[in-house]
Amino acid sequence: MYFTLLGLPAAGKGTQAKKISQVYDLTHISTGDIFRRLIEEETAFGIKAKKYIEQGKLVPDQDTIQILTENLQQVNLERGCVLDGFPRTLKQAESLTVILAEMGLKLDLVFYLQVDKEVLVHRLSGRRVCPNCGATYHLEYNPPQVKGSCDRCKHHLIQRADDKPDTLQRRLQASSDEMDKLVDYYQEQGILVSIPSEKIETVFTRIKQAIEVRM
Ligand code: AMP
Repeated sequence: MYFTLLGLPAAGKGTQAKKISQVYDLTHISTGDIFRRLIEEETAFGIKAKKYIEQGKLVPDQDTIQILTENLQQVNLERGCVLDGFPRTLKQAESLTVILAEMGLKLDLVFYLQVDKEVLVHRLSGRRVCPNCGATYHLEYNPPQVKGSCDRCKHHLIQRADDKPDTLQRRLQASSDEMDKLVDYYQEQGILVSIPSEKIETVFTRIKQAIEVRM
């Protein structure tokens, strides 16, 4: 089973991708997580990607496609995978079709998590993350037990540079410009499942239903 999730930043792609990968035992591939790891490791690519990410811009297609291709070749795809954060442009979507076809694979379903922009701004501006273990919090909806400190590892929580107000607006704009094209692309292929982004469990139930119908 091969899936991907579309949605503006903070639509809940990461949360749903993790649940899908756990329940269906699929490899979870998040381009955002890969980039953050490469930045942390200070690789040449990480240093380049950091500049784009901190400005709220998308990392150029050519680099992103190369990183994703390398990752797909390294991970175990026997049972399938769930992509999260890729594709974000039509060019990436078209490349993904080709890359998977070369591996004898294709996407089965694409879940599009729909949310209003105002809701997203609120969600993203309150988000705090643990740079040590990756846990995510929200100042209002999911605060840590001790202010500013990770519940799991006690590390100091930070606000991602790309969640800060100016960057956030640019990021949402850059993402929404391409979203319509992606939605059309996958709708034409008959594999798009649009889901209003509500409570986490409600969205996940819709995803499971779509998977069961399809499989
Ligand atoms: P995410 O954690 O998915 O929100 O990704 C964090 C940042 O990484 C995004 O705001 C982009 O700057 C960059 N990024 C992640 N995935 C992609 C992609 N498929 N194409 C271009 N940039 C990406």
